[in-house]
Amino acid sequence: MNAKFPFDNTYSTLPRQFFHKQKPAAVSKAELIACNFQLAEELDIKLPSSGLELIFSGQMIPDGADPLAQAYAGHQFGYYNAQLGDGRALLLGELNTKLGRYDIQLKGSGTTPYSRSGDGLSWLGPVLREYIVSEAMHHLGIPTTRSLAAVETGDKVLRETVLPGAILTRIAKSHIRVGTFQYFAHNKDTEALETLYKYTRERHYNETKSISEFLSCVINAQSDLITDWLSVGFIHGVMNTDNCSISGETIDYGPCAFLDKYSPSKVFSSIDSYGRYAYSAQADVIVWNMAQLANALLPIVKNDDGVLNSFKELIHEMPNQIRSLWLEKFGKKIGISKTNPDDYKLISSFLNGLASRNEDFTISFRKLTEEPEYFKSVDPDWFKTWQTRISGEPNPFSIMAKTNPNLIPRNHQIELAIKEALNADFNLFYRLNEAFKSPYEKTVEYADLETTPTEEEEVFKTFCGT
Ligand code: AMP
Ligand code: MG
Repeated sequence: MNAKFPFDNTYSTLPRQFFHKQKPAAVSKAELIACNFQLAEELDIKLPSSGLELIFSGQMIPDGADPLAQAYAGHQFGYYNAQLGDGRALLLGELNTKLGRYDIQLKGSGTTPYSRSGDGLSWLGPVLREYIVSEAMHHLGIPTTRSLAAVETGDKVLRETVLPGAILTRIAKSHIRVGTFQYFAHNKDTEALETLYKYTRERHYNETKSISEFLSCVINAQSDLITDWLSVGFIHGVMNTDNCSISGETIDYGPCAFLDKYSPSKVFSSIDSYGRYAYSAQADVIVWNMAQLANALLPIVKNDDGVLNSFKELIHEMPNQIRSLWLEKFGKKIGISKTNPDDYKLISSFLNGLASRNEDFTISFRKLTEEPEYFKSVDPDWFKTWQTRISGEPNPFSIMAKTNPNLIPRNHQIELAIKEALNADFNLFYRLNEAFKSPYEKTVEYADLETTPTEEEEVFKTFCGT
């Protein structure tokens, strides 16, 4: 049987300055690490019984694919970089599926004109990390790109040491970023910018009738996403505008990590020296990123005062919007179905308690769900106020069980899975993927994955690892 992908490409029909058509590089000896068959089925992809490693390493291009590297720019740590683009990824095309339109992309498939000084490759570590975390994110119920396959290439990749090369096949609603808009705005290519706007609107926010509504939809999607991240203790680590998707999906799992012990200023990324993308800073940075999107849309708006004022209002309103979403989501985490502004104090005081006692974020919310008496012993005043507050709630503990995960992909587990994979043992990688399929369940089988790292196990730094 031949592979059959429901390709229906539209991005490749856009003007030529949007991309560069390019074939994946040859690899020495492709070997399949993982294929997400369940996802393939959801996407109406018919896979052959053999040769998957050739497809997912770009050695066999499926019928209908039209590989290309997308052009984009972006603010990296606040500094504008006019020349980014897919330097190590290729869009194979778009799949028209019963779930909607999806990009399918190879990551680590060789150089492109946007590679700058990079080698266009990925090593095994970041591929396994993205596979585990993006799939875990999906099962946590948070919008994200997904992982369809991972292969080893049989080639060596030079980083600080020589490491095995790998390729990830990624699925996304699209790979259009804030930085894609910035690219054309900065190049003063207003025609292309308008084309991009119309294309993106049709693809993601078809219901919108004006550019203000379009911006508002992106802002809503991103505000929802970032408060989702905060509610599970996720730190993206590199919220540059090129890593900020217009569709509102989590994209680009580089130095990302989940909180173990709760600390609002927590940073894992080795390159985030000033904590620009620290855990709690994410709520502010997204406002800045959306202001950059608004700015990039200005050449289309020209001098329409009505639109300019609505843009300003949307950005100014964002902090309040994020605060209400935060309140709603964290309210549920402590059993409140409908919050009022006073609950902000109750939730903050719970979080402050965790910080002062150096306690684990995920475990603590779960403990509040399962053994709330613990908090009576460590913080009786808070416990009393909380009990009074939830006394009118019909089902506080069932709301909490649904919103407080039991399992999150912890850094030390991911690092260990990568270390073992480097010794050709992928068992932990497979086990983690299985476990994170049901993050809200409590099982005996995966009880060992619930624990916070010991001092020896704790990982303090994560790397872009490109
Ligand atoms: P990222 O850190 O994944 O957001 O990547 C930022 C930019 O650097 C994007 O334009 C990537 O395509 C590019 N890039 C990252 N790693 C490599 C690499 N190994 N080779 C070429 N380009 C890369
Ligand atoms: Mg990126």
